[in-house]
Amino acid sequence: MRCRVVFDRVQLSRYNERLMFDAPILDTRRFIACADQVSGVVMPAQVPALQESLFSGEGEIRWSLAGRMDAQNRRELEVTVAGELWLTCRRCLTGFRFSLASRSRILLVAREADLPELDDEDPDIETLVMPEEIRVADWVSDEVVLALPLAPEHPEGCCQVDAVAGVDVTRAKPFEALAALKREI
Ligand SMILES: [Zn+2]
Repeated sequence: MRCRVVFDRVQLSRYNERLMFDAPILDTRRFIACADQVSGVVMPAQVPALQESLFSGEGEIRWSLAGRMDAQNRRELEVTVAGELWLTCRRCLTGFRFSLASRSRILLVAREADLPELDDEDPDIETLVMPEEIRVADWVSDEVVLALPLAPEHPEGCCQVDAVAGVDVTRAKPFEALAALKREI
């Protein structure tokens, strides 16, 4: 199993050389004024910011970006990502499938002075000073990274316990307890 991990890492770097995440760069003002929308599909292996978390570059990420004026005539962007990734379990270092589903609304203001005070900020909507252009690949990448679990791991009891040099993490605990007991004595 350990060899498999190394093999997959090599595969990932080869993917990176071959395929980059090719997404448009948008003129923000125009994109929002025209209520435009862009969407696409990218392989996890093609998103550089994900490489540390991935067990395998397989899977897919469907993404979309939409611009609009909201009901209060404010510039708004909506970023959506969904799909499937193979992440590395932090306990047993093998892979597990993660279903990605995330959507963010971002308000864009003209000047820093227009940013809301921290106390007034709506926790569900981020507000940013409007950039002149939007690098879609960066925005999608950020959205995916923020949606990853803080503790990537198999559900309790589902780890591949023999995967890491034969060490069984669940069975190791009684020995720890015994060692602690011996120290006390
Ligand atoms: Zn695990």
